[in-house]
Amino acid sequence: MPSLHLSVRRYRRPFRQPLLTHHGPWAERTGLILRVVSTEGGVGFGEVAPIPWFGTETLEAALAYCQHLDVHPTYTALQNTPDTLPACQFGLHSALAQLQHPPRRVEPFPLQPEHICALLPTGAAALNVWQPLWAAGHRTFKWKIGLASPAQEQADLAKLVAALPQSAKLRLDANGGLTVAEADAWLQHCAALGRKIAFLEQPLSPAQWPELQRLGDRYGPLVALDESVATVTQLAQTWAAGWPGTVVIKPAIAGHPQRLQALCRQYAFPAVFSSALCTMIGRQAALAMATRLDPNHQQALGFGVNQWFQDDWETLSAAELWDQLPP
Ligand SMILES: [Mg+2]
Repeated sequence: MPSLHLSVRRYRRPFRQPLLTHHGPWAERTGLILRVVSTEGGVGFGEVAPIPWFGTETLEAALAYCQHLDVHPTYTALQNTPDTLPACQFGLHSALAQLQHPPRRVEPFPLQPEHICALLPTGAAALNVWQPLWAAGHRTFKWKIGLASPAQEQADLAKLVAALPQSAKLRLDANGGLTVAEADAWLQHCAALGRKIAFLEQPLSPAQWPELQRLGDRYGPLVALDESVATVTQLAQTWAAGWPGTVVIKPAIAGHPQRLQALCRQYAFPAVFSSALCTMIGRQAALAMATRLDPNHQQALGFGVNQWFQDDWETLSAAELWDQLPP
């Protein structure tokens, strides 16, 4: 068995403007890039991109874990990352997978904008942003709610729905920020708006599971879970409990990729794959999995976030990005 060399670099990526969600403003994405080099000459990159308010480890915990690993780790050591570090599990596994099966080109499949859901800015600002994204070919959009009053947001939504062409789809995301009464009212409102509304994500916090389950029973796929199903373990519990709605899966924070893939194949469900606002390294590994599980992209992929970053990293190869990061 060839021996391995592991190195870790931190990155910081400011957003063009803070991303406003019920969890608060998010000004910059931080994470880790891992590089695993084999004495046989292969190289694999992986990304550790925690989102602690989704219940993952913190960046500091991830860094401490990766730095604590042997510089010359065994395959087994990298494969045995504990379940308490789901973002590390994903990063280490995807680096090993790439080492064993190097990608043939940057995007392993032809993704068109119509397959990608584009994230709009929160509030009325969305009204000025959707047109260029539509012109670029996007047909599905995402819009955050739960920040202003429901009356204000529903007034903004009415304008947005009226402006969007007939074939557009809109995903709403409350990030757990509604009350039970607001969630019910929002879902009734969405149902009345008809086909342009795909679903409402995470109306209540994951702690309100009985109430979420009632909403799922009442509204079916119009309700989606995201924060509630952040990791493979949570996803397994949710499906075992018979969740009747949609689920949003962020592979980059879900944990062990093979376990996630096996679980997704085990259940028949409406699943939507989504970005954890990674660099192209994590995005590519997450997209490869999403494509294996939904080869025809029946559900638009929630990866339309490149326009939120001010850097040029999307134009770089993994090795070029690595070289730009401070050792
Ligand atoms: Mg969400």
